[in-house]
Amino acid sequence: MPKYTLPQLPYAYNALEPVISEQIMTLHHTKHHQAYVNGANAALEKIEKAARGEIEIDVRAVLRDLSFNLDGHKLHSIFWPNMAPPGRGGGKPGGGIADRIEKEFGGFDRFKKLFSDAAKTVEGVGWALLLYDPEADRLVLTQIEKQNLMHLAQLPILLSLDVWEHAYYLQYKNDRASYVDAWWQVVNWDDVENRFSKAKV
Ligand code: MN
Repeated sequence: MPKYTLPQLPYAYNALEPVISEQIMTLHHTKHHQAYVNGANAALEKIEKAARGEIEIDVRAVLRDLSFNLDGHKLHSIFWPNMAPPGRGGGKPGGGIADRIEKEFGGFDRFKKLFSDAAKTVEGVGWALLLYDPEADRLVLTQIEKQNLMHLAQLPILLSLDVWEHAYYLQYKNDRASYVDAWWQVVNWDDVENRFSKAKV
């Protein structure tokens, strides 16, 4: 069975400075994301061994482990390319996603405020996500507590913001709002547009 692997970052660990420090990016990628990859592989291995009758498992606990770690892996795999170095990233979106944000949220600034508020008000740790629902042909803004996506996983994710403390604490301390406000300088709108184009097929 194929195992999950840690994807390379599409830029250097210090590339998002001063918005996100090299230390945070290094720990976040090599420790936290790697741990989710390892956790997903370990849970899968347990399920495979149980299926072959080699071990007995607490199915509920193992599936919860799998959801937590696999969703962690998948969310971080989107979060990294969702960002680009300041200057290349940031600014306003263009293309189809810009038109859609204008139409559905009444303008980029209104969308930015809503997405930021979603990120700032996640209770505990979690994510702010912009999804696309092909059924309704609409953008969907959502909050995720922790990172177990559950049923929402079926909707393609366009834009993700990690607001776990490991994503900002070493640099912004308890000031999550400042991290969220600064983060817009590194949003990679080309990547978001690319995900939107693919999702609409
Ligand atoms: Mn994270």
